[in-house]
Amino acid sequence: MSVEIHAGHDLSGANTLGLPCVAERFAAPRRVDELREVLALAGHRGWRSTLLGGGSNLILPEHLPGLVIQPSMDRWWIEAGVGDTVRVHAEAGVDWHGLVMALAGRGLWGTENLALIPGRCGAAPIQNIGAYGVELGEVIESVHLLHLDDGRESVLGADECDFGYRDSIFKRELADRVAITRLVLRLTPTPRPRLGYGDLANRVGEAAPPLAVAEAVCAVRREKLPDPAVLGNAGSFFKNPLVAPEQAERLMDEHPMLPHFFQPDGRVKLAAGWLIDQCGLKGRREGHFGVHDRQALVLVHFGGGSAEELLAFAERIIERVQARFGVTLEREPRLAG
Ligand SMILES: Cc1cc2nc3c(=O)[nH]c(=O)nc-3n(C[C@H](O)[C@H](O)[C@H](O)COP(=O)(O)OP(=O)(O)OC[C@H]3O[C@@H](n4cnc5c(N)ncnc54)[C@H](O)[C@@H]3O)c2cc1C
Repeated sequence: MSVEIHAGHDLSGANTLGLPCVAERFAAPRRVDELREVLALAGHRGWRSTLLGGGSNLILPEHLPGLVIQPSMDRWWIEAGVGDTVRVHAEAGVDWHGLVMALAGRGLWGTENLALIPGRCGAAPIQNIGAYGVELGEVIESVHLLHLDDGRESVLGADECDFGYRDSIFKRELADRVAITRLVLRLTPTPRPRLGYGDLANRVGEAAPPLAVAEAVCAVRREKLPDPAVLGNAGSFFKNPLVAPEQAERLMDEHPMLPHFFQPDGRVKLAAGWLIDQCGLKGRREGHFGVHDRQALVLVHFGGGSAEELLAFAERIIERVQARFGVTLEREPRLAG
């Protein structure tokens, strides 16, 4: 076995919520064949495998049994494309934000609005990361996979990934069945700024290069979101709920200020942060956790708390929003183990 398996590995510093966690075993394969090797070992020994990226969208329990695998293949490269497009290959362990800034710095358009989203490339397609009017699915050409059960490799085209709002096939049919090993993105050197979201257009002009757009996105995000290095959090803790048009209409009658966004499929997206705020919960602290005082969608960990306490706190928020608006909020970060 060329990959080291560490017993009793502390993951408390490896998740942005800062939850205390010890993995029974841990491995960080740096090549696809090493990843296949550790998966085969886990299968042989009957260890449950848990995949870990940057730990920015995970709720970790105090003890994580089995084997935690953090794919750490970290190469990326640009392949000359046909015509106006450029293909970018990025392995699972590449830091997402670092890649975005490097590509924007090379004058390539497509991922600049997704700057400063924490985590690694391997996890990015799972919830189809999105921000400032852009979703990853718009620039993905294909996703390379390793199947956990038999070590087989396969490639899914973007259409087959079935991307939706914070959703993809990797959260459904392929949940816990594959490891993502590489992304292939399709970018372009032809300017195509997407400045229609938030106040981006006030910060950068239409003629700005992609790096200036990415830097503007970083500036807005730093103003609004707590830095996990300072205050534990997993970004948005709840998804923005999608409701039927009749329910949205009823709610708009009762609450004329309700922010709402009509979706192509007829449903209406509501702002979960606004709903939480209206329940008087913005800035509320209970025990070791709280609702962030500038962004009610973000739950923060002040230290010393546990996954159980966090989930119970989240449940109370869900109940309050349900009682007031009849809308059920859904958690965004995934539960490990
Ligand atoms: C401050 C902050 C801001 C954020 N802002 C945004 C935002 O604007 N938009 C957005 O969409 N998200 C946002 N997020 C959420 C998060 O950054 C993304 O979901 C990110 O893609 C998670 O990457 P990760 O490497 O940290 O994954 P992890 O949290 O480590 O894992 C997430 C899930 O992916 C699985 N996984 C990890 N790697 C692999 C792999 N190689 N193969 C298969 N499964 C794998 C894990 O098992 C887990 O289920 C934010 C989070 C934080 C803390």
